[in-house]
Amino acid sequence: MTTYNGSCHCGDIRFSFEHDEITGGLHCNCSICIRKGALMSDFTIPAKDLQIDAKPGALTLYKFGSGVAKHYFCKQCSIYPFNETLRMPGHFRVNLGCIDGVDPFSLESKVFDGKSL
Ligand SMILES: [Zn+2]
Repeated sequence: MTTYNGSCHCGDIRFSFEHDEITGGLHCNCSICIRKGALMSDFTIPAKDLQIDAKPGALTLYKFGSGVAKHYFCKQCSIYPFNETLRMPGHFRVNLGCIDGVDPFSLESKVFDGKSL
């Protein structure tokens, strides 16, 4: 297991979690992910295993549709560090571009058909 550390661009939101080596990621084609274009983790992290350290008021939440999926972003720099998933409430996917030492462009990526859900 490796400890991964991540942050938004300005650093008001920091997070960490433990996982096996990250070798791939997931692009989703749903209406919000396709606009963001971020490569997300292909694994989910239970809320209890994702350590979030955010300045008060920094973590901002966007919801739409059913409101089940929770799309968090930084109030200051607008970066989207993680989201709580639609299919597994209480579990998070993280934006691989936010993680120290991870190069999303060197990873294998799969497309998840979120548009059809
Ligand atoms: Zn920020």
